Amino acid sequence: METQASSLISVRGLTKAYGNFTVLHGIDLDIAEGEVVCVIGPSGSGKSTLIRCINHLEAFAEESRITVDGIRVQPGPALAKVRAEVGMVFQSFNLFPHMSVLKNVMLAPMRVRKSTVPEAERKARELLARVGISEQAEKFPGQLSGGQQQRVAIARALAMEPRVLLFDEPTSALDPEMVGEVLDVMRKLAGTGVTMVIVTHEMGFARQVADRVIFMDGGRLVEIGTPAEIFDTPREERTRGFLRAVL
Ligand code: ADP
Ligand code: MG
Repeated sequence: METQASSLISVRGLTKAYGNFTVLHGIDLDIAEGEVVCVIGPSGSGKSTLIRCINHLEAFAEESRITVDGIRVQPGPALAKVRAEVGMVFQSFNLFPHMSVLKNVMLAPMRVRKSTVPEAERKARELLARVGISEQAEKFPGQLSGGQQQRVAIARALAMEPRVLLFDEPTSALDPEMVGEVLDVMRKLAGTGVTMVIVTHEMGFARQVADRVIFMDGGRLVEIGTPAEIFDTPREERTRGFLRAVL
């Protein structure tokens, strides 16, 4: 398969193994600029590994090929450029506990983009407003609820002005009453044309927000389609079985 000219992320023959155990079996995938793609599938199917390979948080087989915005993802000098373009939001927030919320959001632009303090602060405050937590800017992460911390993590990722945001189960560690506020922020972001790849168990969200949904099982991309195709008329028995179990 050729890389499509319009694709922001191109994945070709992505294979990944831990020792003798193959976790990803030759994944092919193209994601266009502005697309919102949700990745669903059972635990252990390789969803996290797939998105972690996109910014090379996981090494993968040399014959595999991933490009982001035309840059080959591989160890070497270009990797920093890829990582500056790919924002990541984890299940566990991963905020710096000893820094204020504001400083958490200012840090990467200052270090990586060489933003000045006033510029980084102006941007950080704007982003904190965008995720609805302006009032918490001077607090430390430990003083915030899980939902608020995850919204800070989203603001922090956005501060680098990434070309794409990757989310790995961003609401799975949250108390149920906080899931909605984080999904609302993500829904708003999706509406502004940000390219997003979201591993999620929130099927209602995926159906509503995704342009395309990927179903993974056993390290394979089993099926990819519009939310209506995947949720209403799945072609593969494995997809139907999974949806029967979770819906
Ligand atoms: P998912 O996110 O869909 O739950 P993962 O990508 O985390 O799946 O994991 C896919 C498979 O890889 C699982 O079988 C998991 O046990 C295995 N795996 C993940 N990380 C490691 C690791 N560091 N060492 C060995 N096996 C791993
Ligand atoms: Mg996972």
